[in-house]
Amino acid sequence: KVNRAYNFNAGPSALPLPVLELAQQELIDFRATGMSVMELSHRSAAYEDVHNEAISNLRDLLSIPENYEVLFVQGGGSLQFSMIPMNFLQAGQKAGYIMTGAWAEKAFEESKLFGDVYEVASTKAGNYRSVPSIDELKYNATDAYVHLTSNNTIFGTQWKQFPNTGDVPLIADMSSDILSKPIDVSNFAMIYAGAQKNLGPSGVTVVIIRKDLLEKANKNIPTMLKYGIHAKNNSLYNTPPTFGIYLLGEVLKWAKGLGGIHALEKQNEAKAKLIYDAIDQSNGFYAGHAEPASRSLMNITFTLKDEAAEKRFLAEAKQAGFVGLNGHRSVGGCRASTYNAVPYETCKALSDFMVQFQKVNG
Ligand code: PMP
Repeated sequence: KVNRAYNFNAGPSALPLPVLELAQQELIDFRATGMSVMELSHRSAAYEDVHNEAISNLRDLLSIPENYEVLFVQGGGSLQFSMIPMNFLQAGQKAGYIMTGAWAEKAFEESKLFGDVYEVASTKAGNYRSVPSIDELKYNATDAYVHLTSNNTIFGTQWKQFPNTGDVPLIADMSSDILSKPIDVSNFAMIYAGAQKNLGPSGVTVVIIRKDLLEKANKNIPTMLKYGIHAKNNSLYNTPPTFGIYLLGEVLKWAKGLGGIHALEKQNEAKAKLIYDAIDQSNGFYAGHAEPASRSLMNITFTLKDEAAEKRFLAEAKQAGFVGLNGHRSVGGCRASTYNAVPYETCKALSDFMVQFQKVNG
């Protein structure tokens, strides 16, 4: 039996074992090419198949409409924080940011370098325990765009419903919950996500962008930072991260094999429930950070009564084979990231461990 950790890392994070096994099997001689995917030319037919298959499988899984482009770019979610205002924030216009956590703050700070931006709403006063209610959002009909973070990786909150911003382009950072549940892509002008949580390894960033937005984009920016260039060249303007895109493609095939987006959602709900139940049935021994209505199904954040108890919990969890349960350094406490590839059994093992730890220490 292979040695696989109970991996709750926040990203990079667990990948599906069958995908890793396939990659291992194909590593030396990929589809009878006599070389690995890493050694193929990105202009070869063998690579183009990998590339186009990944795009088409993502289109299927997320039901992406025809009038959207699917791009693979580099620079992580973080470069998107700069590319979005560079491309879409025009002089005389404003852009609104919905502040729901540390990543939203980073996106907002970066956008200030490029133009006139403001906060549409913020839940910072409540230590980002929730996302704002949709009716609270006040933005201008003339805004270049409104930006939100669909899942807040560090605080463990997630939007359950998205605002409909009408003619104002809505741009969403879905780095930590893309492909975890069905979404209505047509509600967004653009969606972006670093691959390293639900989609594959780090090094690839997926951008789903409505075509009309590309036409309106600013022209005076570096070539590599123009969405239009990547769209026009099918994300092959320069050398893409070929191995990452290959693995991402295999993750998508795996997701399809499980039954697609609805099956993933059901599995994610069941996994998160195991851990939230351990919290909710603990009589306060464990306290969830997020308000129940805003709870994330991807990042489950909780605390124990004091730092000493948390330290003991984390030390014993580590001893028992659990990895990645420390809360983010800016928040403390504990966090279990239960992305698509984290098996149900792994979540069951954690919830059993939590119950057992409470029995001994409660
Ligand atoms: N947005 C969110 C929601 C994230 O969780 C992260 C990374 N954890 C980022 C953006 C930044 O991504 P990257 O490290 O790929 O730049």
